[in-house]
Amino acid sequence: ETVNLSKHFKVHNGLGRKRTLKAVDGVSLTLKKGETLGIVGESGCGKSTLGRTITRLYDASGGKILFEDVDITEMKGSAFRIYQKKMQIIFQDPYSSLNPSMNVREILSEPLNIHTKLAGKELNEKIEETLEVVGLTKASIEKFPHEFSGGQRQRIGIARAISVEPDFILCDEPISALDVSIQAQIVNTLEKLQEKMGVSYLFIAHDLSMVKHISHKIGVMYLGKIVEVSDTLELYKNPLHPYSQALLDSIPKIGSISNFDKILSGDIPSPIDLPQGCRFQSRCKYVMKKCREREPALTPVSKDHAVACHLYDEV
Ligand code: SF4
Ligand code: MG
Repeated sequence: ETVNLSKHFKVHNGLGRKRTLKAVDGVSLTLKKGETLGIVGESGCGKSTLGRTITRLYDASGGKILFEDVDITEMKGSAFRIYQKKMQIIFQDPYSSLNPSMNVREILSEPLNIHTKLAGKELNEKIEETLEVVGLTKASIEKFPHEFSGGQRQRIGIARAISVEPDFILCDEPISALDVSIQAQIVNTLEKLQEKMGVSYLFIAHDLSMVKHISHKIGVMYLGKIVEVSDTLELYKNPLHPYSQALLDSIPKIGSISNFDKILSGDIPSPIDLPQGCRFQSRCKYVMKKCREREPALTPVSKDHAVACHLYDEV
């Protein structure tokens, strides 16, 4: 669970003045055991920063991160090591996230050496077992990353993440660097793992088409804020935020040409110079006077659906 979580960066504007970039700005989300929460939004909206702040690769600037009700926001040392084991990451690029000078045995040994006492034969068995789970053969163990295809490399990345049996995996665009034909295989592998291990995923993606299959619920992110969060099917049937509607309309459909840039006009404001009121106002066709005055808060409209938009103030 995150409570009002923020990650701000100090940036220089080139004129000697420091400004604040609010990459993640007051995000409150919950993810249950064995569930997948998809996070979607354009590049630069803060998705990866959110994931990295939740997994503590970045220190939070404000708010809280709770893991099984324990506040881990500032936890350190051996106490935090327990949670490091529970939280693993699968990165976007299977080409750069694997050390090219290490073979598969060494790549998978790293987290196991840090978080378990396995050694020798037992360590080897654990590695072989984990490779099998992600669909790689025992023979892979002596090979180096360059000897594998992109999809196979991402399987190694998945094996590295699951080897220590985490409860939570941040999947930061784990399929977007892969061929479309391979993407489905990787998503299926992740789904099977979830069934088997009961692991929870925070699944970051920049489009809504693949994320629909894997996510139980979806958060739509715009300029550091969650503007809508909903049960997945409900979001597809009934997107409420004008930005979510544009994102959904941008999914290419057979027989029609659809283009996100055409659907949305207007400029995206600079994240270091956000307007007063709603951050989507410059691109919104429904913009009203109050949108320029007050920022809409994420407000529930039904049991599993919340939106941050003044169009629903009376609902
Ligand atoms: Fe558009 Fe106003 Fe809703 Fe923002 S609050 S998305 S500007 S209608
Ligand atoms: Mg990213």
